[in-house]
Amino acid sequence: MTKRKTQIVVAGGGAAGLGLVRKLGAKYSRDTHDIILVEPNRTHVWKPLLHEVAAGSMDANADEVGYGGHAARWGYRFFNGALEKIDRVARTITTAPLLDEEGEVIIDRHTIRYDYLVLAIGGVSNDFGITGVRENAMFLENRRQADRFRRRLLNACLRVNERRQRDGADARLPICIVGGGATGVELSAELVHATQSLRAYGLEVFDDSAVEITLIEAGPRLLPALPEEVSAKVLDELRALGVNVRLETMVTEIGKKSVSTKDGRTMEAEMILWATGVRGDHAIARMSDLKLSGQGRVVVAPTLRTETDERIFAIGDCCHCVLPGTETPVPPRAQSAQQMADHMVGQLDRAQKGQPLTDFVYRDKGSLVSLSRFATLGSLMGNLVGGKMAIEGRIARLAYMSLYRMHLIAVHGWVRGPIQIAVHEVNKVTRPKLKLH
Ligand SMILES: Cc1cc2nc3c(=O)[nH]c(=O)nc-3n(C[C@H](O)[C@H](O)[C@H](O)COP(=O)(O)OP(=O)(O)OC[C@H]3O[C@@H](n4cnc5c(N)ncnc54)[C@H](O)[C@@H]3O)c2cc1C
Repeated sequence: MTKRKTQIVVAGGGAAGLGLVRKLGAKYSRDTHDIILVEPNRTHVWKPLLHEVAAGSMDANADEVGYGGHAARWGYRFFNGALEKIDRVARTITTAPLLDEEGEVIIDRHTIRYDYLVLAIGGVSNDFGITGVRENAMFLENRRQADRFRRRLLNACLRVNERRQRDGADARLPICIVGGGATGVELSAELVHATQSLRAYGLEVFDDSAVEITLIEAGPRLLPALPEEVSAKVLDELRALGVNVRLETMVTEIGKKSVSTKDGRTMEAEMILWATGVRGDHAIARMSDLKLSGQGRVVVAPTLRTETDERIFAIGDCCHCVLPGTETPVPPRAQSAQQMADHMVGQLDRAQKGQPLTDFVYRDKGSLVSLSRFATLGSLMGNLVGGKMAIEGRIARLAYMSLYRMHLIAVHGWVRGPIQIAVHEVNKVTRPKLKLH
């Protein structure tokens, strides 16, 4: 009798999941293992670049990875669909029907068996239940939303240009970004760069005064996860770029084209982007009875195994993992997602051999923010720099780029990864500075 193959299902092909399935596909023979990636999209774009896609300074088509081709290359199977339900007793998952743009079913609901299930489905923006956020604000959670933002931005800029040209009017485009974390800060700077470049793209009467960017943060400083001196420098840089930064300002309601704050003010905004931190997708609670944190993330032990089920693991933004000796969970970042994916490869091996699992160790390498072409700032961690060290300029830019480069290596391996890095660099030189379609 032939032995049944071990089936490892990974749900979510983002920063954590895609690197994981590549490594598992390369590690195990197809005769003994089926590695299956379940993912609703057909292509992957690295999330930390979405603000560049949204502002048009990066063409996602040039950097995306097609799951089908990647799966064929690395020896895993790609199933195009979203995880909808987990049956822990039968050890199966069910995927939601995959629909086309007209709502017609492409792939019906499917049931897939697993021996081990790894959840890597990321997170969603936390709206804190504030009125009007879901209905009226935009988000930067995925490629579709980033593309939508860019299309609306371009249309709005064209409208302002047209009104200025035709009527000589002092037309302006007010944009409000809520959330002074990395996404909000980086997008603000990227939008300044994009709008400065638009004149060269035929929007002749478009100048710095045409776009008014307001960045609202509830706390006393931007980038609370970074050292105070970095926050202060970023604040100065953004203000020098003309961004109106409002600290200690609590948003109470988002209207169709307005943002109301606790101090009783209401500002008009043609476009509103909500970027106030990550929580677990509400869908996780409907999938199964896995234990969730207050933020709706799957609670895992330091081994990354769920506290509820020994066959189910969770990594990346969707998991809540408090490591021994710490009180706060591992932060939802690309570097944590990559490190967890690396650790998962060994954990799955140990689990199959019946060996004890080992604890995940998070190595914080520091945090960097890119203010588009204007500046890169942040802090590096490590023994080499003697703890935490604030950096900026060229070194910071190189360190910032290295995170994406490591992602390309994780996704494409040590042979193709460097080629992809070279292609990315060439594209930056040969392609237009702005994607306007
Ligand atoms: C604009 C922006 C800038 C950022 N900048 C930085 C930075 O500079 N440095 C840093 O460290 N971090 C940064 N981050 C955070 C970083 O992107 C995330 O921490 C990281 O992507 C998390 O990886 P993940 O694999 O857990 O989730 P994701 O990368 O979000 O991947 C989740 C995947 O799961 C899929 N999925 C969702 N639901 C389902 C389902 N039901 N079934 C199957 N698949 C599903 C999604 O389509 C997606 O492909 C940034 C984030 C944003 C939005």
